[in-house]
Amino acid sequence: MHSCPNPLHCILPPYILDRMAESDNPAARKLAVEAIARSATLRATRTALAPFAAQTAIASAGAVKNRLVYDNKTNGATRLPGKLVRAEGGPPSKDPAVNEAYNHAGSTYDFYKKILGRNSLDDGGMTLVSSVHVGRGYNNAFWNGEQMAYGDGDGQIFIRFTKSLDVVGHELTHGVVSHTCNLDYQDEPGALNEHFADVFGSLVKQWKKKQKADKADWLIGPDIMGPGTKAKALRTFKDEPAYSKDPLLGDDPQPKHLSKKYRGSADSGGVHINSGIPNHAFYLVSLALGGNAWEKAGRIWYDTMRALHQTSNFNDMAAMTVQSAGARYGAGGTAEKAVAKAWKDVGF
Ligand SMILES: [Zn+2]
Repeated sequence: MHSCPNPLHCILPPYILDRMAESDNPAARKLAVEAIARSATLRATRTALAPFAAQTAIASAGAVKNRLVYDNKTNGATRLPGKLVRAEGGPPSKDPAVNEAYNHAGSTYDFYKKILGRNSLDDGGMTLVSSVHVGRGYNNAFWNGEQMAYGDGDGQIFIRFTKSLDVVGHELTHGVVSHTCNLDYQDEPGALNEHFADVFGSLVKQWKKKQKADKADWLIGPDIMGPGTKAKALRTFKDEPAYSKDPLLGDDPQPKHLSKKYRGSADSGGVHINSGIPNHAFYLVSLALGGNAWEKAGRIWYDTMRALHQTSNFNDMAAMTVQSAGARYGAGGTAEKAVAKAWKDVGF
């Protein structure tokens, strides 16, 4: 088992913790073993949370942006959400993790609202609930189906998980996926679930920073990497590794071409691994179309997300993005051709 309390929707894939647990470096090994041990306690949180989240969802239905940030440290780190420390419109905290969770959730809400016309994760004004300081030195962030939870990291390999806007956008997008096509978190549908989370996590960041596609870093999690690793980030959309021969993390396992698809059973059939293939296709489409990736490429992907279903696979994804591009920007037009070419370039 790994340090993710819920097999669903952790930013950090299990292979990173496995690699750390097998590391020659005693400090890394110790951290991984501790993280894995902590998972037993945190796994209890989901049941505890359910009635609470149902209430907030009902109370906020139809409302505008509504964020609640909880400090889980004061709650003994065993149950979510914790103590309420910042509500919508409330003053900033002295705690940077509280403000990051609040601000990044706000940016993600604004992105979905202004760019895609979506009112929160469920398109019904659902409250964005976040807990910070989950666990002690906890190396992960996750969406548990109802709320966000962020660890502080061990301080060596990872620092606090609220720091990267793309990580927050990634986790909240899992919420959007669960309220749209609800892709299974296994094999190719699971890799597509991870893929959508990475795409919109990156697009929220690009939009916030006003970066055109050719100026964006196309990295996931660059701001959460600690001083003990040379890894640039957790993942990259580009055809290059985010890390290689790293003493703590080893080699980036993500393929960027279908011929290198991972076919094993680890990581729920490679959900954080094979997402590299559609991620790279999205990157190629964005560069081919130029300008702001969230405008055309993002819109095509959002249309696709809403058209897919629970068991959609990579072929369905490729076909539906081509169809969505044609429907929105003209059959046989530049956008449709760029999308078709990108899938061909990654092996379809
Ligand atoms: Zn994820």
